[in-house]
Amino acid sequence: MTLEAAMVRVSTGSQDAASQEKVIVADAAERGATIVKWFRLHGYSASHGEQEPALREAIADIARGDYSVLIVTESSRLDRREDLDAQAEILLAIRAAGGDIRAISEPQFGRTDFAGRVVTLVTQHANAEKSKTVKNTTYRGVMMIRDNRAHHGPLPAFWETRGERYSKQAWCTDPMAVVDIFERVAGGESLASVARAYDLYPASVKNVIRFEANHTGIEECSYTHAGVTETWPHEVAPVVSSPLWWRANKVLAANKTDGRGNKGGRPVARPANWISGILDCPACGGKIFMNAGLTPAGNPRTPKLRCGGHAKRRLACGSFPGIDAQPVVDVIADRFAEDDTPVLAFQRVAGNAHELDALHADLRKLQARLSATEDDDELDELVAQRRSMKARVEGFALVPDRYDYAPTGQTVGQMWNAGNDAVRRGMVRAVKASWGLSLTSHEAQWVVALGTADDVIGLDDGDGRERIVDLGNGLCFRSEGRSQE
Ligand SMILES: [Zn+2]
Repeated sequence: MTLEAAMVRVSTGSQDAASQEKVIVADAAERGATIVKWFRLHGYSASHGEQEPALREAIADIARGDYSVLIVTESSRLDRREDLDAQAEILLAIRAAGGDIRAISEPQFGRTDFAGRVVTLVTQHANAEKSKTVKNTTYRGVMMIRDNRAHHGPLPAFWETRGERYSKQAWCTDPMAVVDIFERVAGGESLASVARAYDLYPASVKNVIRFEANHTGIEECSYTHAGVTETWPHEVAPVVSSPLWWRANKVLAANKTDGRGNKGGRPVARPANWISGILDCPACGGKIFMNAGLTPAGNPRTPKLRCGGHAKRRLACGSFPGIDAQPVVDVIADRFAEDDTPVLAFQRVAGNAHELDALHADLRKLQARLSATEDDDELDELVAQRRSMKARVEGFALVPDRYDYAPTGQTVGQMWNAGNDAVRRGMVRAVKASWGLSLTSHEAQWVVALGTADDVIGLDDGDGRERIVDLGNGLCFRSEGRSQE
């Protein structure tokens, strides 16, 4: 039977002490050991003052032969991680006194691995010292570089260093390329294009342009050690003239601001009226455009509809003389503005499957809450809710979904009157696509005819056939053909 001591250490406010003691008691009982002394260390922050005397006491006890083993639940209860010297000293002292440490969760600790652990500690300590030494050595090296006014730091493309350590000289490997890059950027060539030409990334081109030593001949080198930044100038041979450097950098700066905004591409002439480009030329089949604006003398023109030719050859055919635009515009506008045909939208007109889906989703949510709750009252309530919801799901009379065009509540006239030029052009184009809309000669006059060529003349009320005028975006209206003059 061995005599042992146990040490527990817990943070303030933690319930951990009792559980550590339990583990230690069970472990000792299992091995037939007797715990003759307890060290209870409370409060992690107090450990500085409290732990070390306790360990010294344990070492003295062990040396006296009061007990031979110090039990802890894990070795971290023993360590003072922040002070490796003290840690190693304590472990070695317990060992030297002829004692042993038993860390319950680490069976190897304090036994076969004990020596190894001390070695590890010493190694860790040495590593910490080494990294400090490396930093100091680097600092001394950089200070030598500074004293030599040598290069230190990153360089852009086409720049390299040569020379001995601590006295490296930066130099431009290809001044021609650098000058060319500056010229290209200053001339407005895109970074991507310049980068392609020199097999660089656009960002690397930027770095070349921004490298001030390219024109100043002075590189500002810096090094920060222990929060103090040292700077020193390193002289290089300049590559570009200052005006060129400024021009290229100005382009970069400008590109960063307004040049980056999306301007919407090339400018596009806006049609003067929704009628422009809708009707076909009765002579050549080209598009008819509204011709408005001012005469060379500055007087407003009478708007005319004239042949504008075809998409690729925008030349008037010369056979269609052109007509006054206003009567045509008025006829079409009236036709739409007074139309009380309801606008329809493709939508669900019957079916309730979505309601059943919602019920199923609610049921799943309820199920999740049921498995999570620990409150009895809430549990009762959730069970009741679940029962009623299940009943609703089971009794659900499913009506299959059916989609069709159904009124949106808006009429064609309302849509026309509320719409801008784009909306109106879309409506006229939709009617033309489904019904036909053309200029026709009728009794020596040009009239707008709604309907296909066969139907046009003399068909006041159409043929009674219903057509769907597809307005796009899922909207449409049903219309009967008629002709208007
Ligand atoms: Zn024409």
